[in-house]
Amino acid sequence: PSKQRLLVVANRLPVSAVRRGVDSWQLEISVGGLVSALLGVKEFDARWIGWAGVNVSDDIGQRALTKALAEKRCIPVFLDEEIVHQYYNGYCNNVLWPLFHYLGLPQEDRLATTRSFQSQFDAYKKANQMFADVVNKIYQEGDVVWCHDYHLMFLPQCLKRYNSNMKVGWFLHTPFPSSEIHRTLPSRSELLRSVLAADLVGICDSKSGYTASVRPFNPSFHTYDYARHFVSACTRILGFEGTPEGVENQGKLTRVAAFPIGIDSERFIRALELPQVQDHIKELKERFAGRKVMLGVDRLDMIKGIPQKILAFEKYLEENPNWRDKVVLLQIAVPTRTDVPEYQKLTSQVHEIVGRINGRFGTLTTVPIHHLDRSLDFHALCALYAVTDVALVTSLRDGMNLVSYEFVACQADKKGVLILSEFAGAAQSLGAGAILVNPWNITEVAASIGYALNMPADEREKRHQHNFMHVTSHTSQEWAATFVSELNDTIVEAQLRT
Ligand code: UDP
Repeated sequence: PSKQRLLVVANRLPVSAVRRGVDSWQLEISVGGLVSALLGVKEFDARWIGWAGVNVSDDIGQRALTKALAEKRCIPVFLDEEIVHQYYNGYCNNVLWPLFHYLGLPQEDRLATTRSFQSQFDAYKKANQMFADVVNKIYQEGDVVWCHDYHLMFLPQCLKRYNSNMKVGWFLHTPFPSSEIHRTLPSRSELLRSVLAADLVGICDSKSGYTASVRPFNPSFHTYDYARHFVSACTRILGFEGTPEGVENQGKLTRVAAFPIGIDSERFIRALELPQVQDHIKELKERFAGRKVMLGVDRLDMIKGIPQKILAFEKYLEENPNWRDKVVLLQIAVPTRTDVPEYQKLTSQVHEIVGRINGRFGTLTTVPIHHLDRSLDFHALCALYAVTDVALVTSLRDGMNLVSYEFVACQADKKGVLILSEFAGAAQSLGAGAILVNPWNITEVAASIGYALNMPADEREKRHQHNFMHVTSHTSQEWAATFVSELNDTIVEAQLRT
């Protein structure tokens, strides 16, 4: 029998497209978490629907790109610059992203956001409708449609309006905030109602098998807390009934459940065996011989708590002069949303702190912090994970935080220590092996740095084993397979009930 078709809808397609001529495009697949997750799920025939990240205003260009993408099983949604500005930069990144991560905006930005809110929300709905149009065009009976993330909260409803029999799941990769926070959003009810149109709502939790369902639309989340927040937002704001399975409204149940995401751990473990990665590891070891290596890998985003991390490191050096020439912090800060003023401000703030600390504790030949404003390729990143003694993740909020998983996967030899923010989703799954910290408390983080640097080998080994077991057994492939099979089951159960 032919495989079930899976239509994966996400804001961005997993490719980068560069125009080479009037009708020619060069494409490169980017292997992120979602791509490798779905490559591992062999029982489905997966296709991708999303924005290619480029503005293509002419017909010839659009047709050529559509054709090139088809070879990669990708179907483009064409968004013009104005829509991208209002929907993506505006509503997604300036409204939903900070709100879902509990980040306040400065007063003046908040007022500006309040004023432009309606036009941005209209653009958001319009963009979601454009995604729905593309899905609807290629949809065939029996297909499963899996919508991803906060960019597409309006999509489930648009799809169900086209066809109420469509199997629709929605998964949120970020936290879902307390209903007290969600309440402040002017479009609070519309967004919830739309998500509830799905058959399964998935959220990213790692702890328990919490499941709550909202039936004809299935939303899902990473963590138990996020799923609980979502259900209570529906009960408090919409007045619907929360059940252990999800959300019920007039006999219609939307199933809400936690589906903790993972990584393709084998890919990392295999990479460490490659000669070029081995060479790189050797170089790094020589470069930092005699010093313990601490590592941070983050997009340069407010949610990652990079200034807090660096201030805690400073405090540790301040209080432990004997460690000043024996430890180095490598901070990879990948530039992100660089045209947004808030992010530019953060960049200069971090540079200033790093400069101060290096000036204060550096010598003629060494500095305590190596800060890089750039990304690394996959192999360089693996090598870095492998030589690290202590990884430092200080997110102020984070859906899951895959960097912590990737670090653990690369530490079979070294058995280094993970210091992990309790506000990252990963704290729920790696909490027993990691040292959990409140990133706002730099006294606590500094003390944890000391504890990690001095940890005896047997304790490191025990903690590492715990995390390694988790990371290698809860993979992204398993996550994707579970979500889709739950979505299929949810629909079968719903049919049995009626
Ligand atoms: N990453 C990368 N190159 C870099 C730094 C990071 O490819 O130079 C990847 C990293 O391997 C991880 C992802 O970026 O898979 C970051 O995911 P995470 O969940 O930690 O945070 P997000 O950026 O999604 O908020």
